[in-house]
Amino acid sequence: MAGEPQSDCLFCKIVSGDIPATIVRESETTVAFRDINPQAPTHVLVIPKVHYPDAASLAAAEPQIAADVLTEAGAVAADEKIDSTGYRVIFNTGSGVGQTVFHAHAHVLGGRGLQWPPG
Ligand code: 5GP
Ligand code: ZN
Repeated sequence: MAGEPQSDCLFCKIVSGDIPATIVRESETTVAFRDINPQAPTHVLVIPKVHYPDAASLAAAEPQIAADVLTEAGAVAADEKIDSTGYRVIFNTGSGVGQTVFHAHAHVLGGRGLQWPPG
């Protein structure tokens, strides 16, 4: 069923606790944890607890949870004190632009200057 945990999904296993992660925030619908391969001083992933392959499919099926992901991304930025200097929220969508985990996730990046446009 849509949104159900997938046995072959890394981020579903982080939600269930089967794979450890450095969790920085949790809400009823989301988990935020540090990226294992950080690309900036702050690099946190915010994921919905439900499984959808990307942000657009999450938003189509569960708009409130998509909003929760964005709210939590802002809260992470405030917790990490990067909200005043600026930060970026990225949803890679598709393998052609580097999506490697097909469970919707927001990258929250900050703590250094970030090039625009991104590479
Ligand atoms: P994507 O490339 O799909 O947009 O982002 C997936 C992200 O997940 C990557 O930045 C990668 O470093 C991170 N990642 C992959 N495996 C793990 C893991 O086991 N634990 C954590 N915390 N992050 C992971
Ligand atoms: Zn999943």
